[in-house]
Amino acid sequence: MFRGYVQIYTGNGKGKTTAAVGQAVRAIGRGFRVFFAQFIKSKETGELIAFKSFGDLIVFKQYGKGFVFGKPTTEDIKAAREGFDEVTAAVLSGEYQIVVLDEINAAVSSRLIESAALIALIRNKPANVELILTGRAAADEVIAAADLVTECKEIKHYYNSAVAAREGIEF
Ligand code: ATP
Ligand code: MG
Repeated sequence: MFRGYVQIYTGNGKGKTTAAVGQAVRAIGRGFRVFFAQFIKSKETGELIAFKSFGDLIVFKQYGKGFVFGKPTTEDIKAAREGFDEVTAAVLSGEYQIVVLDEINAAVSSRLIESAALIALIRNKPANVELILTGRAAADEVIAAADLVTECKEIKHYYNSAVAAREGIEF
Protein backbone atom coordinates (compact mmCIF):
# COMPACT_ATOMS: atom_id res chain seq x y z
CA MET A 1 0.00 0.00 0.00
CA PHE A 2 1.09 3.56 -0.66
CA ARG A 3 2.75 5.04 2.43
CA GLY A 4 2.25 8.79 2.73
CA TYR A 5 4.69 11.20 4.38
CA VAL A 6 4.61 14.88 5.32
CA GLN A 7 6.60 17.28 3.15
CA ILE A 8 7.29 20.97 3.77
CA TYR A 9 8.60 23.53 1.27
CA THR A 10 9.52 26.71 3.09
CA GLY A 11 12.05 29.57 2.90
CA ASN A 12 12.23 32.95 1.23
CA GLY A 13 13.31 31.86 -2.28
CA LYS A 14 11.21 30.89 -5.30
CA GLY A 15 10.04 27.34 -5.70
CA LYS A 16 7.64 26.43 -2.88
CA THR A 17 4.33 26.47 -4.72
CA THR A 18 5.92 25.22 -7.93
CA ALA A 19 7.34 22.24 -6.00
CA ALA A 20 3.85 21.41 -4.71
CA VAL A 21 2.37 21.81 -8.22
CA GLY A 22 5.11 19.56 -9.60
CA GLN A 23 4.41 16.87 -7.01
CA ALA A 24 0.68 17.11 -7.78
CA VAL A 25 1.27 16.68 -11.53
CA ARG A 26 3.64 13.76 -11.00
CA ALA A 27 1.12 12.02 -8.72
CA ILE A 28 -1.74 12.61 -11.17
CA GLY A 29 0.41 10.98 -13.84
CA ARG A 30 0.41 7.83 -11.70
CA GLY A 31 -3.35 7.96 -11.23
CA PHE A 32 -3.38 9.40 -7.70
CA ARG A 33 -6.14 11.81 -6.75
CA VAL A 34 -5.04 15.19 -5.40
CA PHE A 35 -6.75 17.77 -3.20
CA PHE A 36 -4.91 21.08 -3.70
CA ALA A 37 -5.87 23.76 -1.17
CA GLN A 38 -4.46 27.26 -1.35
CA PHE A 39 -4.72 29.40 1.77
CA ILE A 40 -4.73 33.23 1.89
CA LYS A 41 -4.46 33.75 -1.87
CA SER A 42 -7.41 34.20 -4.22
CA LYS A 43 -5.73 34.81 -7.52
CA GLU A 44 -6.31 32.95 -10.75
CA THR A 45 -3.06 31.14 -11.52
CA GLY A 46 -1.68 29.08 -14.38
CA GLU A 47 -1.81 25.96 -12.22
CA LEU A 48 -5.51 26.50 -11.47
CA ILE A 49 -6.23 26.66 -15.21
CA ALA A 50 -3.95 23.73 -16.02
CA PHE A 51 -5.45 21.53 -13.29
CA LYS A 52 -8.87 21.80 -14.97
CA SER A 53 -7.58 19.61 -17.78
CA PHE A 54 -6.97 16.77 -15.29
CA GLY A 55 -10.69 16.35 -14.63
CA ASP A 56 -11.63 14.78 -11.31
CA LEU A 57 -8.10 13.59 -10.54
CA ILE A 58 -7.64 16.95 -8.82
CA VAL A 59 -9.78 19.26 -6.73
CA PHE A 60 -8.44 22.83 -6.37
CA LYS A 61 -9.82 25.19 -3.71
CA GLN A 62 -8.78 28.66 -2.56
CA TYR A 63 -9.50 29.97 0.93
CA GLY A 64 -8.72 33.65 1.30
CA LYS A 65 -8.96 37.12 -0.11
CA GLY A 66 -5.33 37.96 -0.76
CA PHE A 67 -2.33 38.81 1.35
CA VAL A 68 -2.87 39.36 5.06
CA PHE A 69 -1.09 42.47 6.33
CA GLY A 70 -0.87 43.05 10.06
CA LYS A 71 -3.80 41.90 12.15
CA PRO A 72 -6.04 39.48 10.24
CA THR A 73 -9.68 40.48 9.84
CA THR A 74 -12.46 38.19 11.05
CA GLU A 75 -13.12 37.41 7.37
CA ASP A 76 -9.51 36.31 6.84
CA ILE A 77 -9.80 34.04 9.86
CA LYS A 78 -13.19 32.67 8.80
CA ALA A 79 -11.96 31.81 5.28
CA ALA A 80 -8.86 30.07 6.65
CA ARG A 81 -10.80 28.11 9.30
CA GLU A 82 -13.41 26.97 6.75
CA GLY A 83 -10.58 25.96 4.46
CA PHE A 84 -8.88 24.05 7.21
CA ASP A 85 -12.10 22.17 8.00
CA GLU A 86 -12.54 21.24 4.32
CA VAL A 87 -8.93 20.11 4.06
CA THR A 88 -9.30 18.03 7.21
CA ALA A 89 -12.36 16.34 5.69
CA ALA A 90 -10.41 15.72 2.46
CA VAL A 91 -7.50 14.17 4.39
CA LEU A 92 -9.80 11.87 6.36
CA SER A 93 -12.07 11.00 3.39
CA GLY A 94 -9.76 8.42 1.87
CA GLU A 95 -10.52 9.89 -1.56
CA TYR A 96 -7.18 11.64 -2.02
CA GLN A 97 -3.67 10.23 -1.79
CA ILE A 98 -2.06 13.70 -2.01
CA VAL A 99 -3.32 16.72 -0.08
CA VAL A 100 -1.53 20.04 -0.63
CA LEU A 101 -1.92 22.93 1.82
CA ASP A 102 -0.31 25.71 -0.19
CA GLU A 103 0.65 28.78 1.92
CA ILE A 104 -0.45 27.06 5.13
CA ASN A 105 2.78 28.20 6.82
CA ALA A 106 1.79 31.80 6.08
CA ALA A 107 -1.69 31.09 7.48
CA VAL A 108 -0.05 29.86 10.69
CA SER A 109 2.43 32.73 10.95
CA SER A 110 -0.39 35.26 10.30
CA ARG A 111 -2.33 33.61 13.16
CA LEU A 112 -5.20 32.47 10.94
CA ILE A 113 -4.61 28.83 11.90
CA GLU A 114 -2.97 27.55 15.09
CA SER A 115 0.11 25.43 14.64
CA ALA A 116 -1.39 22.95 17.12
CA ALA A 117 -4.29 22.36 14.71
CA LEU A 118 -1.88 21.71 11.84
CA ILE A 119 0.15 19.31 13.98
CA ALA A 120 -3.06 17.50 14.96
CA LEU A 121 -3.89 17.11 11.25
CA ILE A 122 -0.41 15.66 10.65
CA ARG A 123 -0.80 13.23 13.57
CA ASN A 124 -4.33 12.15 12.58
CA LYS A 125 -3.78 11.71 8.86
CA PRO A 126 -4.34 8.24 7.47
CA ALA A 127 -1.08 6.41 6.72
CA ASN A 128 -1.82 6.37 2.98
CA VAL A 129 -2.15 10.16 2.57
CA GLU A 130 0.81 12.37 1.60
CA LEU A 131 0.58 15.90 3.02
CA ILE A 132 2.44 18.73 1.29
CA LEU A 133 2.73 22.02 3.18
CA THR A 134 4.16 25.22 1.70
CA GLY A 135 4.85 28.82 2.64
CA ARG A 136 7.56 30.95 4.18
CA ALA A 137 8.57 30.68 7.80
CA ALA A 138 7.26 27.23 8.67
CA ALA A 139 6.84 26.98 12.46
CA ASP A 140 9.56 24.98 14.26
CA GLU A 141 7.00 22.64 15.83
CA VAL A 142 5.45 21.90 12.41
CA ILE A 143 8.92 21.22 10.97
CA ALA A 144 9.53 18.83 13.86
CA ALA A 145 6.36 16.89 12.96
CA ALA A 146 7.23 16.57 9.22
CA ASP A 147 9.25 13.90 7.43
CA LEU A 148 10.81 15.94 4.61
CA VAL A 149 11.63 19.64 4.85
CA THR A 150 13.17 21.64 2.02
CA GLU A 151 14.17 25.27 2.35
CA CYS A 152 13.98 27.35 -0.84
CA LYS A 153 16.69 29.88 -0.08
CA GLU A 154 16.87 33.11 -2.04
CA ILE A 155 20.32 33.56 -3.53
CA LYS A 156 19.05 36.06 -6.10
CA HIS A 157 15.56 37.05 -7.16
CA TYR A 158 14.58 39.36 -9.99
CA TYR A 159 11.86 41.00 -7.92
CA ASN A 160 14.78 42.80 -6.25
CA SER A 161 15.42 44.26 -9.73
CA ALA A 162 11.80 45.43 -9.93
CA VAL A 163 10.66 42.51 -12.12
CA ALA A 164 7.02 42.03 -11.17
CA ALA A 165 5.34 38.61 -10.96
CA ARG A 166 4.90 37.27 -14.49
CA GLU A 167 1.95 35.36 -15.92
CA GLY A 168 2.96 31.80 -16.71
CA ILE A 169 6.06 32.01 -14.50
CA GLU A 170 4.91 33.24 -11.07
CA PHE A 171 1.15 32.84 -11.53
P1 ATP B 1 6.48 29.98 -6.81
O1 ATP B 1 4.97 30.01 -6.76
O2 ATP B 1 7.00 30.68 -8.00
O3 ATP B 1 7.03 28.61 -6.57
P2 ATP B 1 6.88 30.56 -4.03
O4 ATP B 1 5.67 29.75 -3.75
O5 ATP B 1 8.17 30.00 -3.56
O6 ATP B 1 6.96 30.86 -5.57
P3 ATP B 1 5.75 32.73 -2.45
O7 ATP B 1 6.49 33.10 -1.21
O8 ATP B 1 4.52 31.93 -2.30
O9 ATP B 1 6.76 32.03 -3.46
O10 ATP B 1 5.46 34.07 -3.23
C1 ATP B 1 4.42 34.13 -4.15
C2 ATP B 1 4.67 35.27 -5.10
O11 ATP B 1 4.71 36.49 -4.39
C3 ATP B 1 5.98 35.21 -5.83
O12 ATP B 1 5.93 34.40 -6.98
C4 ATP B 1 6.20 36.65 -6.19
O13 ATP B 1 5.47 36.94 -7.33
C5 ATP B 1 5.61 37.38 -5.01
N1 ATP B 1 6.68 37.79 -4.07
C6 ATP B 1 7.18 37.04 -3.09
N2 ATP B 1 8.11 37.73 -2.40
C7 ATP B 1 8.19 38.93 -2.98
C8 ATP B 1 8.98 40.11 -2.74
N3 ATP B 1 9.87 40.17 -1.75
N4 ATP B 1 8.81 41.15 -3.58
C9 ATP B 1 7.91 41.09 -4.57
N5 ATP B 1 7.14 40.04 -4.85
C10 ATP B 1 7.27 38.97 -4.06
MG1 MG C 1 3.87 30.06 -2.84
